[in-house]
Amino acid sequence: MSAIRMDGKALSAKVRGQILEQTETLKAQGVVPGLAVILVGDDPASQIYVRNKERACLECGFYSEKHVLPATASESELLDLIYRLNTNPKISGILCQLPLPAQIREDAVIAAIDPKKDVDAFHPTNVGKIMIGDFDFLPCTPAGVMELLDEYDIDPKGKQCVVIGRSNIVGKPMAMLLLHKHGTVTICHSRTANLQEICAGADILVAAVGKANFVTPDMVKPGAVVIDVGMNRNEDGKVCGDVGPAVMEKASYMTPVPGGVGPMTITMLMKNTIKAARLQNGM
Ligand code: NAP
Repeated sequence: MSAIRMDGKALSAKVRGQILEQTETLKAQGVVPGLAVILVGDDPASQIYVRNKERACLECGFYSEKHVLPATASESELLDLIYRLNTNPKISGILCQLPLPAQIREDAVIAAIDPKKDVDAFHPTNVGKIMIGDFDFLPCTPAGVMELLDEYDIDPKGKQCVVIGRSNIVGKPMAMLLLHKHGTVTICHSRTANLQEICAGADILVAAVGKANFVTPDMVKPGAVVIDVGMNRNEDGKVCGDVGPAVMEKASYMTPVPGGVGPMTITMLMKNTIKAARLQNGM
């Protein structure tokens, strides 16, 4: 039997509708959530992500600003812009689209964003808060995965959860959120021995590798929940995930790519932005 598709597009539309209602309530109290998105350079994938974020802001009734700097911009130019946005009352959240050109240090940029406006939850203060389980902002992609699990009544409690990938933006915080929900979590990476065996023991398998068709049916336990975070391009240039299509026949639930985790990530960014607006206004 084929797995149930976990529809991130539909859930995303539902959550954005709820956020729009909350925005209307905030606006009636004189508070308008505002997101500033910074793009440095002209990377085509980043341009698409930024456009999608602007569209999501519109759907949620937010004020939004886009700041585009040339690929040759210096680190201090970018930091100056961030400092201005940090003190701009119209801006509740700041997002700097990654990756950045080589002359700009990513960690310096992340550290410059006011943690109260850090809607990506990448600032060390927010990363630490996620670690101890007392957080304002959740990292968007893992938070989107958790909402999808919740929507389909999949409780990680007591389950064997395996996350493939240990990046700061996906793998590590994903593992932490599953742990907070009482999953028994294993993190795998490129140096993991017996990867196939470990994955095949997972009740919930999250793939965040960045390699098309990386997860094959032999790595999946029959009836497992399989979450595909990957966003890759196959030989035909089509967007595909990290999980091969044949896994659909073995899993009980699976997220499609596109239309699974991707839309949820942007929706979680909107959730963080409205939360930032509330926090900054003592609400
Ligand atoms: P990343 O920083 O490149 O991390 C990839 C991880 O995969 C690393 O931890 C790496 O291990 C591990 N890995 C690589 N080859 C492996 C192998 N052969 N066996 C086991 N582990 C292996 O990527 P990322 O930023 O986490 O993103 C992962 C994927 O998610 C990408 O396709 C990205 O485009 C996608 N993504 C999607 C969304 C969304 O909204 N859907 C958001 C963010 C990212 P090492 O640490 O040992 O190198």
